[in-house]
This record gives sequence, C-alpha cells and structure tokens, in this order.
Amino acid sequence: MKRSLTGIRATGEVHLGNYLGTIREALNLQQEYECFYFIADLHSLTTNKDPEALRNQSYDVVATWLALGLDTGKHILYRQSDIPLVTEFSWYLSCVTGMGFLQKAHSYKDATAKGQEVNHGVFAYPLLMAADILMYEPDLVPVGKDQKQHVEMARDMAGSINATYGEGLLKLPEVHINETVMTIPGLDGRKMSKSYNNVIPLFCTEKQLRKKIMSITTDSTPLEEPKVLKGTLLADLFVHFATQDQYKDLESRLSTGGLGWGHAKQELFEVINEDLKDARERYFELRKDTAALDALLKTGRDKALEVGQPVLDRVREAIGFKKLPVSFS
Ligand code: AMP
Repeated sequence: MKRSLTGIRATGEVHLGNYLGTIREALNLQQEYECFYFIADLHSLTTNKDPEALRNQSYDVVATWLALGLDTGKHILYRQSDIPLVTEFSWYLSCVTGMGFLQKAHSYKDATAKGQEVNHGVFAYPLLMAADILMYEPDLVPVGKDQKQHVEMARDMAGSINATYGEGLLKLPEVHINETVMTIPGLDGRKMSKSYNNVIPLFCTEKQLRKKIMSITTDSTPLEEPKVLKGTLLADLFVHFATQDQYKDLESRLSTGGLGWGHAKQELFEVINEDLKDARERYFELRKDTAALDALLKTGRDKALEVGQPVLDRVREAIGFKKLPVSFS
C-alpha cells in the first residue's frame, strides 16, 4: 500500500487553515494510503519556549486527528520528538545542502521579513522537514500551499544524497495539494497563522466560535443595499463548508439587498458549526484522557520506528558509519 505522511506543529491552536489546508485532505486519503501523521513538536521549538504549553498543545493535535476520524487501527499517529533519530538524519542532509539553498526557503524569508527571531532552527527548518519526510519513505505528502516549496526542497535534498552516496538510497515523495483550497485567510485577511494571532480555532466552544466569526470585518454597506459575496473573507470560508447550492443562495440573497453582513456571518457560523460539532464533542472527550493518548503515541512511535530505523541504517552504512545499535566487532 502506498504511504501518505504529514505533520502539524504543536504551536498555538489548531485552526481552520490547518483543517482545510491539510487535515481534511489527509484524512480523505485513508482508504488508499497507509497514513503516517505526526505532531511536529521539534519544529514547534523554534517559537514555542513554554514546556507546559508544548506538552499540552501536542496532546491537542493528537486529540484533533483522532476526533476528526484518523483510524489508528490502520494508520499511525506519532510525536516527532519521540523519534530523535530524525535529528540525526537532518544532520546528514545538512551536509549535502548549501546555505544559499536554505536562504531561499519561504519560512526563513518570512521570519526575516517580519523581523521575527531567526534562530538556527528557523533557518534549518527545511532540513528537519526533509528528514521527517524522507525517513519514512512516503509516496505522498499532503500539505497546504504554503508548504509546497519545503516538500520540493526535501526532494532536492534526497537527490543530493542519492547523487553523493548512491542512486535509489532515498525515495523522492510527491507533494499533494488540494488545488480547490488556496491558503486560507485569517481574521485580518492575511494567511491564517498561529504566528499572526488571526486564527479561527478548529475546536473551541460553540459560543467562542460564533464570537470569532462575528468579529470578521466587513464593509459598512447598509442592510438594504446589494452586496457582493465573492472576494470577501466570508466567501473564502463559506465556500469550504457550504454546498454549492447554499453558496449560490447566499450570494443571490446578498446581491438583491435586504440581507446584512451580520446575517451572512450567522449563516457562516451555522455551516461551520454543523461540520464540526460532532468532532468537537469527541475532541473534548478524547483530550481529557492523556494516558490513553500517550498509549496511542507509544504504539505510533514503535510502528514509525519499524519503518524509519532501517532507512536511517541504510543511510548510515552508505555514508561510512555503522548501523544502530553500533557494534564494535
Ligand atoms: P503548521 O500549523 O504550520 O504546522 O501547518 C500544518 C499544515 O497546515 C501545513 O500543511 C500547512 O500547509 C497547513 N496550513 C497552515 N496554515 C494554513 C492556511 N492558512 N491555509 C492553508 N493551509 C494551512
């Protein structure tokens, strides 16, 4: 069976951008692919320096995948930091990767442009992401549009390792992006992102969800005037939760006038809430039992290691090291 792999950082709240950009599509792949989905908590460290928050947010991501329907009887959910071999692998990749190449990464350029802290982790992010991917030999990596370049960089790094140590040593995965989902905008119109503080959380209470949606800024066209739905933040979200008929209906009622943006936001809340309400209930239930989540993560770690360790061993031998555990005979 072919394999799909993706990760979500344990940083801040999991939001609608994560859900629409990656999680929903990744879950749709469960029938056709063996899924390796992980909590990217090593990546979180570049910005998240609060140990308690890091621990909690890791559990949030685990409960999110489960609540939305990841079948851990058939698929694997693991925490990146439970398999530290991945950091060893990223070192091997860093030794065939030029500084100039890494300077082109969006993550680095964005952090620099925004004047954010640019620690070495931010700069080396594509290396660790490449190790995350290449160590488990996926066929497909479902990600949001913002991550496309990083998956392409992983392919380039695999190519460099293969060119240096032997063709076929590492498998090159394909990036998978749902083209109907562009980058999801946040409440301020910029990309919905944990670092912009502009997110609509995936799982909060119904009341909090309504409040967030009602806080979307709209123009001040009076209620009786015609309004154009297309091109608004409201439309960008509504289109992903409503049926085509619901979308057309709202568009037409707004265009004839007599319907205010407040009503439209209420309808947006209703379609989102309808989509998420059952999963939300499961999420809060699952999230309480961290011992059960830990047990699942342990199984995930063991299974992920079964696949990842032989790949790393192969690389160790190819570059001139011994396999793990090292024997001195
Ligand atoms: P992160 O929260 O950065 O770990 O992202 C996890 C996944 O969600 C990645 O595959 C991203 O591409 C995707 N993602 C994050 N934010 C957005 C967004 N605003 N729109 C679409 N996809 C997103």
